[in-house]
Amino acid sequence: MSAPTRLLVLGIDAASPELLDGWVGDGTLPNLRALAARGIVGRTRGVEGFQIGSTWPSLYTGTDPSHHGVHYLVQLVPGSYQLRYSATGDFVRGDPFWRTLSNAGRRVAVLDVPLSRLDPTLDGVHVVEWGGHDSVYGFQSAPADLGPDLASRYGTHPLGGSCDAIRRSADDYGAFLDRLELGVTKKLAWTKELLARGGWDLFLQVFTEAHCTGHQCWHLHDATHPGHDPAIASALGDPLRRIYRSIDAAVGQLIAAAGNDTPVVVFSAHGMSHWYGAQFLLESILVRLGCTVPLAGPPARSGGVRRLARTAWRALPPSVRGPINSVRERLAAAESTTARPPTLSVDAARSLCFPLNNGLAVGGIRLNLIGREPEGRLHPGAEADAFVEKLTTDLLSIGDERTGRSLVRFVTRTAGRYSGPLLDHLPDLLVEWSDDVPTGSTALNAGRGAMVRARSAKIGVIEGANDYTRTGEHRPGGWFVAAVPGGAHGSLGREVSLLDLAPTFTRLLGVEMACQGRAVRELIHPDE
Ligand SMILES: [Zn+2]
Ligand SMILES: [Zn+2]
Repeated sequence: MSAPTRLLVLGIDAASPELLDGWVGDGTLPNLRALAARGIVGRTRGVEGFQIGSTWPSLYTGTDPSHHGVHYLVQLVPGSYQLRYSATGDFVRGDPFWRTLSNAGRRVAVLDVPLSRLDPTLDGVHVVEWGGHDSVYGFQSAPADLGPDLASRYGTHPLGGSCDAIRRSADDYGAFLDRLELGVTKKLAWTKELLARGGWDLFLQVFTEAHCTGHQCWHLHDATHPGHDPAIASALGDPLRRIYRSIDAAVGQLIAAAGNDTPVVVFSAHGMSHWYGAQFLLESILVRLGCTVPLAGPPARSGGVRRLARTAWRALPPSVRGPINSVRERLAAAESTTARPPTLSVDAARSLCFPLNNGLAVGGIRLNLIGREPEGRLHPGAEADAFVEKLTTDLLSIGDERTGRSLVRFVTRTAGRYSGPLLDHLPDLLVEWSDDVPTGSTALNAGRGAMVRARSAKIGVIEGANDYTRTGEHRPGGWFVAAVPGGAHGSLGREVSLLDLAPTFTRLLGVEMACQGRAVRELIHPDE
């Protein structure tokens, strides 16, 4: 018999920590409950302001975006007003923890980790995007013949390349959940096969079906969401509960297959709750405040930023019906060197600042700085500082007519919080929208809750309706359960950083990783 696995790491992509704790507690997730009973459960703190496209690079490099350089799937080319796709691991600086382990002579199986680039030189096997929420590369493997072999015997993920679509009936949602569940089952089958080959130091697999369900079905889980349809919800049951249970069953089978003595870590890198905010209004707000100049000529179609953000997410416009299988092809075209990258939807050169995509929960703003931008208008230093202070006050004073409270929760200056060498690749300001109330969608439930009216003395009233169909959005906090011989038991009495997971994984295999994170001491065997 081949050597037992030394560390089994399983990801449940974007599963809500609150739901996991609740369902571990009440036995809805019996396998995670059993794991928690013999290990330790804890929470991770995300990278503040960068909880969307950069979460997986932050996790696997153990560094924040000012070090690894990727804050979102579309980014500004520093020193220009050009955008580029940065979605892929190709732009991530720094080694993933599996590279560190392989360098140290550890044998690794790295399977379906989102937004990571194929590394054909790993000691072990690497599978990229057999099926996942964020499909960027298409299905690849090392060795190269592994992928076709798995596909020929197990098929590919039944969901196809994207989960975004308009669903109108219980049948639509039921078919979606069936595909997700079948995806979990198929992934489990080929994962078990690879696990059984044995001899793994690290065996890592990520289930991304929780991510898709959270984005697409939060309104059916959460009765307070404006998109909630009681008839569909009662016909369907709780979609999140169903998919989490299906992943829990797969986790249980993999733990059993690895053997109960194998150290196990199961984690969710970031959370999920209701969709919120008014990112689709940010450009109009900055224009109204006189900071951002719209493009000359015929008025831009409304929602340029929103449309761009959607493109960046590989999502589909609401007019598209049903699952689309050609997303990878569209992506391949979009990312080829000949395809035109997205462009800024404002006249950045004539603006004091301009909006940058950073996900829909936290908006980005770039200052148009003299000496950094090609046609800068703000002097760095005192002038920029005063501008930022005034803009921050103006943004924080915008009220949300739905709540009577501020529409913006925080405005954070990136340079005050991050200091890596790639700081200039990031937005200068992060605008975190308040999540006090969920924002509905024009595509769901007759558009209930989709309209947002922003009001302040400076901007008057700016209103707009959200037409994006996702009803769940990320939260920065994550979760883990770890059963490690010699490790602590119970509940971790402190929050660790998302960046701490990678060096913890390597330390559990006796390897130090140079990064910003620190190994979670409660998980490290005293003998290590
Ligand atoms: Zn997501
Ligand atoms: Zn998805």
